[in-house]
Amino acid sequence: MAVADRYIKMQVLLADEYGFCFGVERAVEMVEKALDGGDTVRSLGPLIHNEQEMQRLGQYGVTTITEPVQIKRGETAVIRAHGVTPDVQRELEEKATKVVDATCPFVTRVQKLAARAAGEDRHVIIVGSPDHPEMIGVKGYAPDHAFIIRDETEVAGLPRLRKPLVVSQTTIKAKTFFDTAEAIKTKTDDEVQIVNTICSATKDRQEAARALAGMVDAFYIIGGRHSSNSVKLLTVCKEQCEKSFLIEIEDEINPNDLMGAERVGVTAGASTPEWLIQKIVAHLENIGKSLEW
Ligand code: SF4
Repeated sequence: MAVADRYIKMQVLLADEYGFCFGVERAVEMVEKALDGGDTVRSLGPLIHNEQEMQRLGQYGVTTITEPVQIKRGETAVIRAHGVTPDVQRELEEKATKVVDATCPFVTRVQKLAARAAGEDRHVIIVGSPDHPEMIGVKGYAPDHAFIIRDETEVAGLPRLRKPLVVSQTTIKAKTFFDTAEAIKTKTDDEVQIVNTICSATKDRQEAARALAGMVDAFYIIGGRHSSNSVKLLTVCKEQCEKSFLIEIEDEINPNDLMGAERVGVTAGASTPEWLIQKIVAHLENIGKSLEW
């Protein structure tokens, strides 16, 4: 972990892994590049699940649309890290002057696997949440061949399968994926191809938070209340450190919670920008300097 300040009584310690994942960082950089080029940027769905970062990008003119039909000539459409179906991509390309495809390469890999299997007339089972935009996008690459199921309890509802390929939503738990993949073997006489497409970003952040939580007196998780990976980080930290708090901005920190704390841990969800994390770390350090015990 990085020691944010060694010279104050209350130390603020950052987890070894925190904040923007590779895919989100890349998407924000792609949008910033388009803005630098003078584009009018419109993101299909919120670019990231962080209100403060969306406000910052909003100041530079980035707006959000909910349907491809809302895009106009002269505008740049952004496909966020979750990706979209080929139909939606086509519609954006027809309507927009430019399309910035910020689909995370880890998601692109799942889309390509699904498309190839469907092209070979095989069934594709995607383990994940059917409502998640990433899953809707992946299914679009194998529309007549794919099924999305949450876990092994839903395997019974599947038909008999033809040479199935099993892939996963990038953010699910490995145990859920492998238990489901195992259960799918009962649904076919063919060989089952199992490809683990889970991205390690969520797990890495949780493991780093768990390691730090056992060493501190209080823990702040910076992230949106609707960000599922931030809420999971809170659960992980609470197991080790009772005084764990999920906050979005520094004003939510109650200095009374830090009375007597010698070490305070900080981590952040995969959609929390670095500038916000540093702002909150600086605020915690200032509180540490002002507290006396
Ligand atoms: S969590 Fe993983 S798959 Fe999802 S955007 Fe981040 S890096 Fe890509």
